[in-house]
Amino acid sequence: MFCTNCGKEMPDGTVFCTQCGARIVDASIPPRPIKEASRPTTAALLSLLFPGLGHCYLSDYRNGGLLMVSYLVVIATTLWVAYGAGFVSDSVIAAVLILCAACWCAVWVLAIVTSYDKAEVLAAEVQHA
Ligand SMILES: [Zn+2]
Repeated sequence: MFCTNCGKEMPDGTVFCTQCGARIVDASIPPRPIKEASRPTTAALLSLLFPGLGHCYLSDYRNGGLLMVSYLVVIATTLWVAYGAGFVSDSVIAAVLILCAACWCAVWVLAIVTSYDKAEVLAAEVQHA
């Protein structure tokens, strides 16, 4: 490699020129990507905060939106069954609430796991690029 300032030849990996003292820009090292790789833990934490948020963080607005809508529908159904549906027996309400709770957990876990996996894939892509 050569000094980009004075042109003196130097061993590879030299940071400062031994002749003129200029900082050497090594063309063989690609510049750091401006956009840092999305961190899987951040995506998972955002999903934990609210299902779908982690996907939006990863710019996956379609799946993020779907998860948010699913989550809100499950919550709305839970509230409706718990407070609004007075026309069914208590045992039916209990059964539906258990079902809703299961869906609730499923959506939540799904959001956390899939956003974590997606972030890992994205991070691997950035590293290989
Ligand atoms: Zn130099």
